[in-house]
Amino acid sequence: MKSLPPVPLLTPNGLQPIAGISFAQTLADYGLPPLTSQGVETLQINVGKICNQTCHHCHVDAGPHRTEIMTLETMDTILAVLRRHPEIQTVDLTGGAPEMNPHFEYLVSECRALDRHVLDRCNLTIFFVKGKHHLPQFLADHHVEIIASLPCYSEANVDQQRGRGVFERSIMALRQLNQLGYGIEGSGLALNLVYNPLGPKLPPNQRKLEADYKEELGNRFGISFNRLYTITNMPISRFLDDLRTTGRYEEYMELLANSFNPASVDGLMCRKLISIGWDGQLYDCDFNQMLDIPILKGMPQTITDFGLELLSHRPINTDHHCFGCTAGAGSSCGGAIA
Ligand code: SF4
Ligand code: SF4
Repeated sequence: MKSLPPVPLLTPNGLQPIAGISFAQTLADYGLPPLTSQGVETLQINVGKICNQTCHHCHVDAGPHRTEIMTLETMDTILAVLRRHPEIQTVDLTGGAPEMNPHFEYLVSECRALDRHVLDRCNLTIFFVKGKHHLPQFLADHHVEIIASLPCYSEANVDQQRGRGVFERSIMALRQLNQLGYGIEGSGLALNLVYNPLGPKLPPNQRKLEADYKEELGNRFGISFNRLYTITNMPISRFLDDLRTTGRYEEYMELLANSFNPASVDGLMCRKLISIGWDGQLYDCDFNQMLDIPILKGMPQTITDFGLELLSHRPINTDHHCFGCTAGAGSSCGGAIA
């Protein structure tokens, strides 16, 4: 009887291995050591997976149906860590839509009272959700930096990826933010936009795309912003499902692996931050969090046993998805790296 072809094994994190390619081996091939942390400058906090949108590429699988949400108690434990460690200067709030957490304003106010720089990864449409209309003014009053997704300056492309009507509401939100001073030179209120490709491709040149965005959004809608961050789609969650159902998983992973750029490795975000899950678990980055890849054994695992010294020199847990951060110009939560 003819035997069936072998079913490809999955890595411990559910990712299919790419024939003959490993992230750790690729680092070694370029003479680079395994990834280790270079300190903790930022706490990136996922305050919950609830979102008012359900975007196709979402690596969090966020949406209105999710129930995971950070409690006030966990937030207070994080604030205690910040009080103990003034060297952690930045708090980066993400979700879901972070503003859906009922204690969002509390966390922001307390972090600002501790004189920390606060970033809000905002989807813009949240400003039009019932009970959230006060947010633009609140964010401005607390000098929160806004990092807002706008994967294109064309309505059709944004609505295809993020849902019908999202582009129009995003433009309205950006105008509101501009009126408050966001994105305006000299105001001290930073408004940065995030681009990610529509499909399994690498982002184009960040500087050139930023110039195009500024021209298009300025001329067509009178909108100003500070920086554009280009971010590579990670082979995780909904985007991974899409790659698999359309049979493009291997092709995309090969593109990422073949585009490995050693110059991106120094600036990888996992080297300077700790990611905190809604339940207080610690991770090397938000992507590892979504793949349930914990910080390596022997290191603090939750915010309750946070230890800055150990975490500042920890080995980082990597796998195939890390090629998403090192492809082309590199990709981090602050955009291109190299
Ligand atoms: S990508 Fe952002 S806005 Fe879209 S569903 Fe995910 S968390 Fe919500
Ligand atoms: S996914 Fe990116 S940020 Fe996360 S551990 Fe891998 S290289 Fe670092």
